[in-house]
Amino acid sequence: MYAAPIEELIKAFQMLPSVGRRTAERYVFFLLRKGKTRVSRLSAALSSLHKDARSCEQCWVFAAHSPCSTCADSRRDATTICVVVHPQEQHVIEQMGIFTGHYHVLREHTNAELDPDSGAIKVKELIARAISPDIKEVILAINPTVEGESTMLYVERKLREQAPHVTVSRLARGLPMGSDIQYIDAITLDSAITHRQKTGPQ
Ligand SMILES: [Zn+2]
Repeated sequence: MYAAPIEELIKAFQMLPSVGRRTAERYVFFLLRKGKTRVSRLSAALSSLHKDARSCEQCWVFAAHSPCSTCADSRRDATTICVVVHPQEQHVIEQMGIFTGHYHVLREHTNAELDPDSGAIKVKELIARAISPDIKEVILAINPTVEGESTMLYVERKLREQAPHVTVSRLARGLPMGSDIQYIDAITLDSAITHRQKTGPQ
């Protein structure tokens, strides 16, 4: 065991994904070596994170304000909602600059089919938006994994039941099974959005 303040920070770093004890120790001793200025920058950034970043209560991205700048932008196409799971995927699509509609971030894969009411998955909030007659299309930009597939089926079913006027589409095939939207190249993702396919019976 190291001294208490060192142990405490080691344990805190271990809360991060893929950080084990050895890596956490390396981070702590790195910070001890680097001196106070660098550490105070890190601790200021950490303490402002939850204070200054909030959820947009319309699309559920993390933003400085709610509604976020995308939801508040009246030049965007308010008839189309692009659904992603993680906020970083919204960021990747937005950076490409080809999609001009609105977004909806589901936030997490839970096994929606088994336990639709649990977890942070923002399906209810999506349905609440999609029932508006102004919404014409919902694009599911969800990773083609087993988990993603079950989320898409669940969301599609809910939309058909509760917002039957809405066209539901998926990204075009061409995204390899198991691929991750966050790391796909821009040309493939651009083409997958442009050639999206309407799903099932409407
Ligand atoms: Zn928003």
